[in-house]
Amino acid sequence: MKICTSLGRRVLALLCGAALVMPLATSHAAPAVPPVDETLMRDTIRTLSSDEFEGRGPGTAAEPKTLDAIIARFKAAGLQPGNTGPDGKPTWLQDVPTATITGTNRSPLTITGGAEALTFKPSSDFVAGSYRITPHTEVKDSELVFVGYGINAPELGWNDYAGIDMKGKTAVILVNDPDYAMDGEDGLFRGRRMTYYGRWTYKFEEAARQGATAALIIHDTFPAAYGWQVVESSWSGAQHFVQTANDGADQTIANGWVQKPVAEAILKAAGKDLAALTAAAQTKGFKAVPLGLKANLSFDNTIEKANSHNVVGLLPGKTRPDEYVLYTAHWDHLGRCKPDASGDDICNGAVDNATGVAALAALAKMSRMAGPAARSQVFLAVTLEESGLLGSEYYAQNPVFPLAKTVGGVNMDALPVGSPAKDVTVTGGDKSELTAILHKVEAEMGLSEAPEDHPERGYYYRSDHFSFAKRGVPMFAVERGTDLVVGGKAAGTAISDDYTNVRYHQPSDEYEESWDMSGMKQDVKLFYRLGRELADSALWPNWHPNDEFRAIRDKSLAETKGK
Ligand SMILES: [Zn+2]
Repeated sequence: MKICTSLGRRVLALLCGAALVMPLATSHAAPAVPPVDETLMRDTIRTLSSDEFEGRGPGTAAEPKTLDAIIARFKAAGLQPGNTGPDGKPTWLQDVPTATITGTNRSPLTITGGAEALTFKPSSDFVAGSYRITPHTEVKDSELVFVGYGINAPELGWNDYAGIDMKGKTAVILVNDPDYAMDGEDGLFRGRRMTYYGRWTYKFEEAARQGATAALIIHDTFPAAYGWQVVESSWSGAQHFVQTANDGADQTIANGWVQKPVAEAILKAAGKDLAALTAAAQTKGFKAVPLGLKANLSFDNTIEKANSHNVVGLLPGKTRPDEYVLYTAHWDHLGRCKPDASGDDICNGAVDNATGVAALAALAKMSRMAGPAARSQVFLAVTLEESGLLGSEYYAQNPVFPLAKTVGGVNMDALPVGSPAKDVTVTGGDKSELTAILHKVEAEMGLSEAPEDHPERGYYYRSDHFSFAKRGVPMFAVERGTDLVVGGKAAGTAISDDYTNVRYHQPSDEYEESWDMSGMKQDVKLFYRLGRELADSALWPNWHPNDEFRAIRDKSLAETKGK
């Protein structure tokens, strides 16, 4: 590891010698934290979630208002515009060009090559869509290959595509990962806990990397954790993407899902049995199985292009300004939505995620007050999280500051109302050397750590920090626990249930002056300390050696060092 030879002896011992990486600060007293400006936070939440902002739908009249409100707060905090415009001048904004693809005129899925041709109906039997910007999609006589879980994980010595050329072929893929049914988290793929390899998004990405023409995931309710109707409804309407230079030419021609009975019928036509193949796919050394059948399907695509914006603020570092630490929060919400019983059709998004933007504003002010850190700090308000993490994805594909020079960061999404907690929940579990930094700050703040509620749901892969994580940048995804200082677990659970059942993604996610902000202030202190630990240290925390994002981080750091 080249990085180990290029750092000072002190860092070398810590980073390269010790298994447990400790932050550099050694003083016993906790570093001073500037006060959290509650008035600023309330004002930001009140403004962004007011009816005047119409739920902050990207591309609506609310977008310029929202961007102006964020920029005003970044300016007041003393940040600099982080981006450079096409005219060479500094700008607060990063354009986020998007494409929305809606499939129409869908043909059935026909399978030939068996005793007789099989025909399956769109929506009820299968769904398919295109990740390419093209008016027409056609898969013609593409050979079907059962590729098990469709996983290529070199760090685990696992490759479902070993020895098979997928060019022109259609991958038939099991959902989740091989050890999802385990009780604990000790398996190669962390048992019951969802890994990136278990996410459906990964299956399509890997099939594309393998050069496949198409990819079809076999739906199964337990490992997918949702029923077919969720797949059907989310694939029947518009699909959102960031625009890329090649219009998605590196993607498969078509991606989709089939119902489990459909997969069983297809495999039967090939003389195979889904249950037997599934069992085989759960063992190391599994080899992909060509089915001797061919797939055909087609549909048209209606394409709409649009533009939204991320806001980028910068606080330059004192001694290593070309190294960056991120704070991220999405500014967008659902805009106008389904009216509630009173006819209110504005999904205000007060908690989700005016609170995160308010935290961003407060952290900018606190960081400025504390004086510059060693490294630069980047305050990034991203768009289109609710459409599939597109703002953060676009930034990560087109980083304003190089990702290999980005040490790590903290993402903030939906800070709960209520009192401070005694504990902290870590989404994604212990994935990287950030854990040691978190433990240090937890100890300093007197916080314990509570296990994630539903590790099988893979929430780590479903919020903006993931756009960075998948490209190797380690990101904190921590939130206040439910064991509250006032009222304990009963109070914390009541607040969390109220939000999930009554407010989440509904017009009732509104700000109230009666909000208890003391817990949110605790969150902001925690985020401040985590960001500052990274910004004042010389460490480059990495993913653990068996983690899915370790290899990409090693590669990007090595490339930078080589330059
Ligand atoms: Zn959110």
